[in-house]
Amino acid sequence: MNLETLLDKEEFTKDDIVTLLNVKNEREINVLYKKAESIREKYFRDEIHLRGIIEFSNYCRQECLYCGLRKSNKIIERFRMTKNEILKVAKVIYESGIKTIVLQSGEDPFYTAKIIAEIVEEIKSKFDVAITLSVGERPFTDYDLWRSVGADRYLLKHETANKKLYNKIHPYQNYDNKIKHLKYLKAIGFQIGSGNIIGLPNQTYEDIADDIILCNSLDVDMASFSPFIHADNTPFDNVKNCELRLLLNTMAVARIVLKNVHIPATTALATLDEEGREKGILAGANVIMPSFTPSPYRKDYLIYKDKKCITENPQLCLPCLNIRLLSVGVKASFSKGDSLKITC
Ligand code: SF4
Repeated sequence: MNLETLLDKEEFTKDDIVTLLNVKNEREINVLYKKAESIREKYFRDEIHLRGIIEFSNYCRQECLYCGLRKSNKIIERFRMTKNEILKVAKVIYESGIKTIVLQSGEDPFYTAKIIAEIVEEIKSKFDVAITLSVGERPFTDYDLWRSVGADRYLLKHETANKKLYNKIHPYQNYDNKIKHLKYLKAIGFQIGSGNIIGLPNQTYEDIADDIILCNSLDVDMASFSPFIHADNTPFDNVKNCELRLLLNTMAVARIVLKNVHIPATTALATLDEEGREKGILAGANVIMPSFTPSPYRKDYLIYKDKKCITENPQLCLPCLNIRLLSVGVKASFSKGDSLKITC
């Protein structure tokens, strides 16, 4: 079957997905990305949704082998933002026009369910925004509380659908448990985000196809595909970084298979390539998540090495992003950008 015929299918098998991930020649890559772009335009027109992230703690009790924030990394400077500091940044995000605030941290039990609930409640009472939580695996009762006080979305990446690989790179976590958490979050009404890391040691194209299939079966509202970029002082600090082509192919194939889900062009993509986010948009992405984490903390939220935009003033990010978006024929949307699965 030629590429054009394959791309005309409505449903894709695992073999189809592996074939599409493997596209390598320039003509075929162009056809693949154009198809992804046309699907993005069908659902999101020329609008790119912005989510302002506050990385409020880089403490983590986990030991993910690839991550610079892992507990045993004693080299990094740890920080925790106070509730007032978080609220101040939330105001900055709201005043910049962005209507989604992402509260992200390592798995840090210092922030109890109650503390996070208070922060969510206070932000929601002051600003008309959607809130995404990205604070790792927590007891189900924590999720219940946060949903009851108005948190809208939860981002919990599955990282890899290869169970053996997952359990190897997460010494204190378990694949089946992660899936249970994602299903629970969806069941109680969160818009859920999941996704993978591409370029992990021993990961195959079949594994990446399974990641896309898993996102489909979990009925995710957002699917995030990040490149592996090594972090200093971790067991993977000598592993080579993800190839840009494979990442962009994955994003394009995910758009084609998952259709109307949100797909971000991540800061990690910009780290891999100076114009990575623009290339991601041209491969089907429709979300950008600028960090508003303030100094002096911003430079210390280093899940991976050489992270982009860690010294810039967060308020200068938006004009820069706008220019980048216009250069690829799209514009920033300042709506909340809820899941199309709930707004259609
Ligand atoms: S990936 Fe997340 S849970 Fe794992 S060590 Fe890093 S911050 Fe912690």
